[in-house]
Amino acid sequence: MIRYEPADSFVTPRFSGVRTFMRLPNTQDLENADVAIVGAPFDTGASFRVGARFGPEGIRSASHLLRPYNPSQDIIIFEHLSVIDYGDVPVVPGFIEESYERIREGLEPIHRAGVVPIVLGGDHSIALPELRAAAAVHGSLALVQFDSHADTWDSYFGKKYNHGTVFRRAVEEGLLDPARSIQVGMRGPLYDAGDWDASLELGFELIATNGVRELGIDETVARISERVGDAKVYVSFDVDFVDPAFAPGTGTPEIGGFTSREAQEFLRDLAGLNIVGCDVVEVYPQYDGAGQITALLAANVAHEFLSLIALLKRGGRPTTHTKP
Ligand code: MN
Ligand code: MN
Repeated sequence: MIRYEPADSFVTPRFSGVRTFMRLPNTQDLENADVAIVGAPFDTGASFRVGARFGPEGIRSASHLLRPYNPSQDIIIFEHLSVIDYGDVPVVPGFIEESYERIREGLEPIHRAGVVPIVLGGDHSIALPELRAAAAVHGSLALVQFDSHADTWDSYFGKKYNHGTVFRRAVEEGLLDPARSIQVGMRGPLYDAGDWDASLELGFELIATNGVRELGIDETVARISERVGDAKVYVSFDVDFVDPAFAPGTGTPEIGGFTSREAQEFLRDLAGLNIVGCDVVEVYPQYDGAGQITALLAANVAHEFLSLIALLKRGGRPTTHTKP
């Protein structure tokens, strides 16, 4: 059994080498992997700005800063996980349904091998083929979605597939169990007073940003855990969940959001959920400005996902551990 882990940054500096995620080996050896980082450089599903096709590249570049130990979870990720950078799934720019097919085909073997994919988007439209691939192997899934938008509209411009309709399509296709699924962080102006009701009608629980502010993060996470229970869950993190002050490089920013610190708290408290796949989407490096802070946020979100999966593998967080 080969254990794949990042290059040793005490031997070669972090700014050196080819830009894989966290300096991991670029291989498709699923037999020896627990987790695969996979890029999905597709942005034809976006309704406003475009440019998420460069998201995976931006996130991989920013990820070179990351280190293997997560003190907040007290876990050395690569003591418990063999992780590969699988490369990107194929896409056809401009052609969403054909891209969906190729993305699903690209991801399904990863699930079949028992490997957990962490997908780097791409606009949020890629969640549909991600869920098709995951559900083909695991059956219908619970969803935890962090996003300022519910993405449950029916259509845009008369078209059914784009980044604003994915979770409605996923329910229609039986990929999700809405009774186990929850959307968190919705805010911003809408087209109509009933827009969020569409999620409730589909069977999702929805806690808008105002609701999170009333409940607090701990209580919100308790609701998430209660909702999901022990179901197999897909966690989808749209970076516009975070305020544009911390994440400007995104497609449809909404002000009045969470800090990057709060996003970390949400993710860390998901420890124990049975995650079979996850993504971080909607990174548009050309709107990121100096410092690439949105790509850095997304790289850290993926690092938290790795930590959660490593905790699952280890058998949980030590009960005595207090988060520093
Ligand atoms: Mn979204
Ligand atoms: Mn969004």
